[in-house]
Amino acid sequence: MTDYSIGVDLGGTNLRIAAVDEQGKLVEKTTLETRVAMGRDHVVSDMCAAIRQLSEKHKAAGKLLGIGIGVPGIIDMETGMVRESPNLPDWADYPARTEIERRLGTRVVLENDANSAALGEKWLGAAKDVNDMAMLTLGTGVGGGLVLGGRIWHGMAGMAAEFGHTTVEPDGALCGCGNRGCLEAYASATAVVRMAREAIASGAAPGLAQAAKSDVEFSAKAVYNLSIQGDQEARRIFCQVGRALGIVLSDMVNALNLPMYVIGGGVASAWDSFAPSMFEELLQRSMVYAATSPEPSHGRGASAKVKAMGTKKTVVTRAVLGSDAGLYGAARLPLVNGS
Ligand SMILES: [Zn+2]
Repeated sequence: MTDYSIGVDLGGTNLRIAAVDEQGKLVEKTTLETRVAMGRDHVVSDMCAAIRQLSEKHKAAGKLLGIGIGVPGIIDMETGMVRESPNLPDWADYPARTEIERRLGTRVVLENDANSAALGEKWLGAAKDVNDMAMLTLGTGVGGGLVLGGRIWHGMAGMAAEFGHTTVEPDGALCGCGNRGCLEAYASATAVVRMAREAIASGAAPGLAQAAKSDVEFSAKAVYNLSIQGDQEARRIFCQVGRALGIVLSDMVNALNLPMYVIGGGVASAWDSFAPSMFEELLQRSMVYAATSPEPSHGRGASAKVKAMGTKKTVVTRAVLGSDAGLYGAARLPLVNGS
């Protein structure tokens, strides 16, 4: 007998569903298209049908322990309502948990997708050997998740860990949240493309201009490709990404003193291009990081003042589960965060 849970990663494009056993072993995974344009009832029907199919198929093998669903948006954790979801506009103020539980007759846990990804990396990924960790997911936006004592930290209204909306430039670029100069406006895929377009408009980025002209879907990946070929402007943009990350991580390390900070999402593939400036900022700005850094001090800012302490180290590292982090984390939800 292998008892298992089912995790759902509800994205704006794909609906991914996995049965995972208690040890984190994948039992079966299935991917459907999220038919957003058909409306939420269709999406929920598709999801419930796929979940039923999976649980029917594996019911002889073990007990279904619950269902966790990662949703891109703000969730009211008490009522299980989706408050707001930019990728699923007609889900706003929708009592998703009640509706899905009614259809399936099984307990369901809803969670913000960035929190699910953090829980996935904690359970089976980069942070599996620590109990406390924070994660930044660098995608279209910048998501944040905080896991304390193995459980997601929600805060009062389920809105904790919005690290993507901490300010790095007081009068900087306007962010979708209404603030100026958020981390998201400097370290998301959207921000990389915006900074590249600004560089092109200034006339000082011939390499980027050429790439944008020949590629209608000019993306953060195209900017990264130029950066690894040595293009100065593309490299400068990823230095800026690293600087913004380093500023926010310095505040996080000073405030939280966690053993591990994990960076995931598509933009994390550009790690080699942004990590040097990120670590430079960390050593410079965070006395807690300077005292616990695995790297040697570079002797400026905080790291000039603070001596290395003991054997406890602050690790800032890449995520290892890729796009499966949110899926595994969702499957973990009914096991740890559902009570
Ligand atoms: Zn913001």
